[in-house]
Amino acid sequence: MEFIDLKAQLAAIRPAIDARIARVLDHGQFIMGPEVYELEEKLADYVGVKHCISCANGTDALQLALMALGVGPGDIVFTTAFSFFSTAEVIPLVGATPFFVDIDPMTYNLCPRSLEQAIHKAKQQGLGRPKAVIAVDLFGLPADYPALQRLCDEHHLFLIEDGAQSFGASIKGQKCGSFGHIATTSFFPAKPLGGFGDGGALFTHDEGLAELCQSLRIHGKGADKYENLRVGMNSRLDTLQAAILLEKLPLVEQEAQRKADIASYYHQHLPGHLTPPAAVAGYQSAWALYTVRCEPQTRQMWLDGLRARQVPCMVYYPTLLPQQQALRDTLRVALPVATAECARVFSLPMHAYLSASEIQQVVGAAHEVAMGLDQGEA
Ligand SMILES: *Cc1c(COP(=O)(O)O)cnc(C)c1O
Repeated sequence: MEFIDLKAQLAAIRPAIDARIARVLDHGQFIMGPEVYELEEKLADYVGVKHCISCANGTDALQLALMALGVGPGDIVFTTAFSFFSTAEVIPLVGATPFFVDIDPMTYNLCPRSLEQAIHKAKQQGLGRPKAVIAVDLFGLPADYPALQRLCDEHHLFLIEDGAQSFGASIKGQKCGSFGHIATTSFFPAKPLGGFGDGGALFTHDEGLAELCQSLRIHGKGADKYENLRVGMNSRLDTLQAAILLEKLPLVEQEAQRKADIASYYHQHLPGHLTPPAAVAGYQSAWALYTVRCEPQTRQMWLDGLRARQVPCMVYYPTLLPQQQALRDTLRVALPVATAECARVFSLPMHAYLSASEIQQVVGAAHEVAMGLDQGEA
């Protein structure tokens, strides 16, 4: 059993992918070829925004978003303490200061109340210019955008959606990638829409921001490619990756539905020792990961017990961002929830190609481990 199975998906669409790749090899426009623009149009349509700008990866997408919003030295960017490193890494990369905020204990996403505390603390103590918030749709579940947008409006902050894990997810039908002033995603192979290499994209309704991103991703170019208006990056999506993603995009909906069915089976059948991911009314997850919570002192036993029964499982993420050496001594509010959750979560196999017997194997193994723990405790 695979934790995330990329081979089964490829087998299902191999001839179409081969044909698409062959067409790119034939026309030879490997940089900014027609597939790149075709993909951007289809992604914008799918997400329901005016503009999609593809780029080299999800980390660059976040950096481009900050650059396009004019975030730089002296600015504070608030973000969650519990995410992949990229979410925070881009903040010092543009010269700004990260300010870490606690998470909601049910969703693992940025907690609006903690964010409000952080904004007040930054203002009261004169720690810098509060400028933007990066919210993450962790494990595929959208963050609380209605509350976050209200706070950002009230305090005149830009809101950036890091949707690297949430392509295909939605809140009351509104797709991830459409929240905030600008949103980003990643096409890293294991993400909900993954290529066969690196890739990323930005989404926005704002024409000015879209034009800035188009310039910034190609060396800050102007109308002509040898006219440079600003200092930018070299961050294009390869035509070959765009061609592959064009064949994978139509699978997103059916894969998300299958993963939702698996999640609900897990939810009903896993032992009570494991707290399943929160179900939030109106929120549809992309199920990038299926993450459960256990007693912190039992986590290693769960991991060892499941792996011994051929059930792959992983800890996302073992370290809080402000505890990473690269981000030590950064600004933060108290992080009691993130600290507790970080020590007790782990993720079970989740992908659209799990078979019924594999799903039962996961559940059966979890019950065996649970029984062992009960007997050990007795
Ligand atoms: C994967 C990921 C990124 C970075 O995407 P890359 O394409 O690997 O650069 C950023 N944020 C989150 C939350 C991610 O999971």
